[in-house]
This record gives sequence, C-alpha cells and structure tokens, in this order.
Amino acid sequence: MDLDAAIAQIPFIDHHVHQPWKGRRLLSVNEFRRPFTEAALPGTWEQHLGNLIGYRWLIRELAKILNVAPDEATVVTARNARSETEYHRLLADNANLGAAYADDLFDFGNCIDVTAWAAILGRPVHRLLRVETFVEQGYADCATLDAALDRLRREVAAAPEHNVVGLKSIAGYRSGLAFAAPDSENQARAAAAYTRLRDAALGGGSGRIADRALVNTIVWTALEAAIPLRLPMQFHIGLGDDDIVMTKNDPTLMRALFTHEPFRDLPLVLLHCYPYHRQAGYLASIYPNVYVDLGLTIPIVGPGAVRIIEETLELTPTSQLIASTDGHMTPEFQWFGVFVWRWALTRVLQRYVADNIMDQEAALSIASAVMRDNALRIHPLARG
Ligand SMILES: [Zn+2]
Repeated sequence: MDLDAAIAQIPFIDHHVHQPWKGRRLLSVNEFRRPFTEAALPGTWEQHLGNLIGYRWLIRELAKILNVAPDEATVVTARNARSETEYHRLLADNANLGAAYADDLFDFGNCIDVTAWAAILGRPVHRLLRVETFVEQGYADCATLDAALDRLRREVAAAPEHNVVGLKSIAGYRSGLAFAAPDSENQARAAAAYTRLRDAALGGGSGRIADRALVNTIVWTALEAAIPLRLPMQFHIGLGDDDIVMTKNDPTLMRALFTHEPFRDLPLVLLHCYPYHRQAGYLASIYPNVYVDLGLTIPIVGPGAVRIIEETLELTPTSQLIASTDGHMTPEFQWFGVFVWRWALTRVLQRYVADNIMDQEAALSIASAVMRDNALRIHPLARG
C-alpha cells in the first residue's frame, strides 16, 4: 500500500473543536463563509473571503463530495439541500474522523450539545472545560473569588464524571500570555476584579473576564487542580480572534507556567500558533510537556499548511505535534481541517521518504502519532 492510502486509513482524533451551530441548517453564502475568517467586520467575509486561496480550495473539494459544479453558490445550495444528520455523518466519514474533543462553552447555547453531536457524528465526543467562561457562568452562585475558585476546583476534580478530558484557557484572547506565579498582591487584585465583574454581570452588564490578575489566578488554580488527574490544558496562541494584541500572544511569554515544577507532568498544549509556530516548536524542544497544535491555522492557510508543518517540525519532535481543526459554526470547517491536515502531512512525509530521510514505515508511524496516538497518550480520560 502506498503512503497516501495508508495515511488515509488512520482515524483523526480532533482534540480541539467546537460543535456546529444548532438550528441553522440553511445558510446564506455569507453565513457559510463566516467561520473561515476571524474577522468581526462583515466586509471581510462579504467582500474578500471568496478570494482566499484556502477557501477557494474548500469549495472545489466540497463540490466533489456533493457532486455539483465547483462554484460557491451551487455548493452552498447543494449542502443546504442535505438532511443534517446524513450530511454531518457524510463529512465525518469522508474525513475519517475518529473522535472529537469539544470546547463546549464557545458560543454557549447556540451550538448542538455534545451528546446530540456525538449521536449525529456516530463518534465519541468528549468535553474540554473552558476555565475563564466556566468562572463567568458561576457569578450567581459564587459571591467571592474564593468561592468561584472552589467551584472551579470541584469541576476539574469531577472531570471523569462529566466526560471532561482536558482544560482550555482563552487567556491569549483576554489578557495575553504573560503569566506569573500568583503572589498576595496579584491575588488581591484578582479578588477585586472578580467582585467588580460579578457586580457588573449581575446588574445586567458585561462580566467578561479580561483582567490579567484574575485570568492568571484562574489558570493557575485550574492547573493545580488538574495535577491529580494529569489533565492537559490547551492555550489559544496567536491567530484566533480579531481583537487580540498579537505581540501579547507569543507563547514564549508563558515561561512562568513551563518552569513551575508542579506543572511539569501536565501536558500544556499550544493551539493554532500562527504566526508563532516556530516559537512553539522552540518551546517544545526545551520543555517535554509542551505540545504544539496548528488547529485553526491549517484549514485557513490551505496549501500553505505543507510549509507550516515543515517549519513546525524543524524543532518540534513528532511525539509533541498534535492535530486539531478548531472546527466551529459549520460542519464543513472541521471536515476541511481534517482534509488539509491529512493532505499536507502526507506531502511532508512523502518528501522525507523520497529524500531517504526515513522509510515508509517510519513515515506512517509519524502520521499516526500526529493525527491520533499523541492525543490518546496525553488525554488519559479519553476513550477514543
Ligand atoms: Zn477553539
């Protein structure tokens, strides 16, 4: 069997994804385009997204599955004509999806719930606990930061009963990645910020947690609680939102977490990483518990994924590269993410074999590690 065909048979474990929208089967062209950009300005997807190379490629590939002409309007009409369950299952089968680990507090209430999504896909779906959002959801029950942190510790400890296999932080979107070990001054600031945000939220305003001291305290507390179960924590890095300060999303800013001895046994997973995938590789090369994912990057950059995977592997050992799609909003995003990961990784490995850097058997075992085995190894609570 050639390498291409052998890699196609490896089920893909999507270790970071979000369930698609619920109740929105019929999409306009602009709604269909929406997940393929992190922009918040409609002009971005209305005027220009149709001209992104990766998106144009998606339309061509999806047209093959739907057996229609490869133009955008025809493809969107054809996908709208499919029944939801049959179509989601078709895409999951086409991608050879193995399992999905869903960050289910993203766009909470507007997405298919995890149990229903598992039934639609016909595959296991596990949960990831988004720690900052979880704290925001507890304002009504927790009058103080101490109470909120106790609630968070209990939830982390209950991971096995709640189908939770890992934690997730959106610190990069909120306050940046410059973590610091909490001291008494930091904790006092965090407690004051919590009270202020809780009052605002209960008064009908925004309780969005973006205070650096508070985010830091929440992440630190969650990691301490994760130690007995060895739960991994995922961090969004770089590409992923329209309002981040990119220079505060360089993962080399996370040094305080990597050097904190009690966290050394916890897998710390750097998600997406663009344009910092080389910095992420550097971190993987010096910290054995750092893992690099290129999630959201891969479906958006399209053919550029070959070069980005090659650059990431310059310093990242293949036992520390892990694959996800960051699929969200529509089922096509996840499907295309798996498709491009598989396509690009195959091309990278084929070149290594052609250049006699390794044999085909070694290349196949690397593909299996990146798309499946590494995810299973670092998520002890996952059953697929
Ligand atoms: Zn995500």
